[in-house]
Amino acid sequence: MQPRDLSTHSVYRAGRGIEEVARELDVDPDELVKLSSNENPLGPSPAAVEAIQQHASHSHTYPKSSHTDLIDAIAREWDVSPSQVWLANGGDGALDYLARAFLEPDDRVLVPQPGFAYYPMSARYHHGTVGTYQLDKADDFEQTATTVLESYDGERIVYVTSPHNPTGRELPRAELLALADQTDDSTLILIDEAYAEFSETDSAVDLVDQRDDIAVLRTFSKAYGLAGVRLGYLLAPPTWADAYERVTTPFAASELACRAGLAALEDDAHLDNTIELVRWAREYMHDRLQPPTWPSGGNFVLTAVDDAQAVAHASKEHGVIVRDCTSFGLSDCIRISCGTREATKRAVDVINDIV
Ligand code: PMP
Repeated sequence: MQPRDLSTHSVYRAGRGIEEVARELDVDPDELVKLSSNENPLGPSPAAVEAIQQHASHSHTYPKSSHTDLIDAIAREWDVSPSQVWLANGGDGALDYLARAFLEPDDRVLVPQPGFAYYPMSARYHHGTVGTYQLDKADDFEQTATTVLESYDGERIVYVTSPHNPTGRELPRAELLALADQTDDSTLILIDEAYAEFSETDSAVDLVDQRDDIAVLRTFSKAYGLAGVRLGYLLAPPTWADAYERVTTPFAASELACRAGLAALEDDAHLDNTIELVRWAREYMHDRLQPPTWPSGGNFVLTAVDDAQAVAHASKEHGVIVRDCTSFGLSDCIRISCGTREATKRAVDVINDIV
């Protein structure tokens, strides 16, 4: 007995945890600075931690099946109806639901290259086939409607990331509208706003109420500092009605995650402090890193180096873990997440010394 042929499926390789790296280097984890996974430098909201602790002793009971408290709060946050919120186990889970709901066998999707690995993976799980549109280094990875349309051929889902991971570049709203207008009626544009809180560009969320071909992905993993609890969601047009109920797993998120998410949503001060710190760190890195760095709307910067693998390795030896972008197809770039002031300054010093 064997599973079906999975040889065309790739494996998602999550970055290694700080404890693992500390063991390898034989140092205390506190001596390391991990700036490789775009995590929140301030950690989770203390209110979220308290909410998890308060509910922990009820963990033997099932979650409220419809997660109504959190879904209602998200709906209020964005001024949409609760039925438009597709709550999921992280943004990844929401991508999975989307592919389940949209793709028929052999439907094609279009993803950015470089880009987030789970777009093509989730599409393939649901028997989709994958094409790419290129974001060119020579054009500073600029994203426009034309960049996407040059490769577009009637795909069912077009994935767009703004701010984009790993480049940090954004798709201006006018370009998003131009793109949606020039694609077929049967094409959905998924705009992934995992990093949008850090950006100064307007969110596309209001568009989900105005048209039925744009959906928006958001996550609690970045600005809300809850990457470990796994909580994200899609905001869908009202006309998609009960599709979510038909594709969701019985419990889309854990009760602990929902309670943490609810508390985090209410903690405006933590969110504001996070955004302020990230914007400071982004500007600091952009100004002070010797190698060229692209403008970024996210909580990270992409930096050009000669040999990403060598630089990331040397940086790790100095206790600063950054992302070697070779797996994104950029063997000459590293991505550095925004850290605390101290961590960011240390990262800049280490990288400048290496290059
Ligand atoms: N979209 C993008 C562009 C990302 O970089 C990530 C996380 N790395 C996600 C979505 C998914 O994040 P999560 O599943 O943690 O919500």
